[in-house]
Amino acid sequence: MTPLMHAAYKGKVDMCRLLLRHGADVNCNEHEHGYTALMFAGLSGNKEITWMMLEAGAETDVVNSVGRTAAQMAAFVGQHDCVTIINNFFPRERLDYYTKPQGLDKEPKLPVKLAGPLHKIITTTNMHPVKIVLLVKENPLLAEVEALQKCYRVLDLICEKCMKQKDMNEVLAMKMHYISCIFQKCVTFLKEREDKLDGFIKSLLKGRDKDGFPVYQEKLIRESIRKFPYCEATLLQQLVRSIAPVELGSDPTAFSVLTQAITGQVGFVDAEFCTTCGEKGADKRCSVCKMVMYCDQNCQKIHWFTHKKVCKTLKEIHEKQELEAAKEKKKQEKKQKKDETELEEAGSTSEEQSAPGPDATKEADPNLWIQTDQREETELTKEPEARAPRPDSPLENRGRKKSSKLDCQLLRGFLCFVFKPSFLTVL
Ligand SMILES: [Zn+2]
Ligand SMILES: [Zn+2]
Repeated sequence: MTPLMHAAYKGKVDMCRLLLRHGADVNCNEHEHGYTALMFAGLSGNKEITWMMLEAGAETDVVNSVGRTAAQMAAFVGQHDCVTIINNFFPRERLDYYTKPQGLDKEPKLPVKLAGPLHKIITTTNMHPVKIVLLVKENPLLAEVEALQKCYRVLDLICEKCMKQKDMNEVLAMKMHYISCIFQKCVTFLKEREDKLDGFIKSLLKGRDKDGFPVYQEKLIRESIRKFPYCEATLLQQLVRSIAPVELGSDPTAFSVLTQAITGQVGFVDAEFCTTCGEKGADKRCSVCKMVMYCDQNCQKIHWFTHKKVCKTLKEIHEKQELEAAKEKKKQEKKQKKDETELEEAGSTSEEQSAPGPDATKEADPNLWIQTDQREETELTKEPEARAPRPDSPLENRGRKKSSKLDCQLLRGFLCFVFKPSFLTVL
């Protein structure tokens, strides 16, 4: 391992920076199993170092001796944030290529001033359509019909390149295509609607009357995926297979399927997401219904026009859920107490069994069975396996085994006392 690999693996940010500044080769993979510094960064789970390696020019498609890339290695050890960073990295130079006139072009395909804002959108890990439109809106240079048209044409070119290059990158191609589709819709709204991009955001967020589900948003994302121009792509087929059977309004949404495919994030388990822009780590709740989360007041304000229609209903649902949760908690506590007393009883019966006999077990069984039956009536949610009859439980078995072993020893001792040892071996 090179010093840079060591520093990356140990998560030493300053040391990595120092070594890179002094010319350490980020792509050296003379490691005995072909690991690179980026792979070690991914394994360590340090997001900053992962990003630093990428910015220093680390290749993402190099594989180690077991044929795995850095992203795959990071995913293997559950470092999903690093996977996301690697999968969404796009070197600025690749974009800057389009800011210079190529071939017979008189002017570049992408004006230099647009490269920065476009790069920011390309490397974003949150691909929520509202977030993308907010990023466009944030930059007055970008929020113009002509600028957006130039940008989506460049995105389409990058998409094509990703599919036609030797090491095809379907994930990146899909991401470029998707952002291009959102940009194209931005152009439509800028041209046709008086409220411009705000109108687009409103359309994206507007929930249907029944349950507040944003139908337009779902349809737009589905349509964008379907319009991916390379129908032989495995990723496209995979996405269509996951999305097509899902009814509008059911899970998973097209957004979650797409995000999972592109960022490599598996499930949204341990974080809250903003209802408006999909940003991870939202921690502000609607104070009325307490059912939806936002990044900040701005996101809440944007969403209010549609949320206000369902807020009251959600509030009722929330209150009902709270009541049920309280009831369930009480039931659990009761059950726990019951289990504890049962355990005590079971413990004492198995102790009594040290002088075993079929009668002892017979006595214990019916009691336990009755209690299991009662539980069956009240708790239908439990899995059948969880309701397995108690006599077979390990606790009982252990008790029985223990007592029979003890008995054998007693018998042996007694026999030893009475008969000669040579006779015992025959026995
Ligand atoms: Zn937000
Ligand atoms: Zn609310």
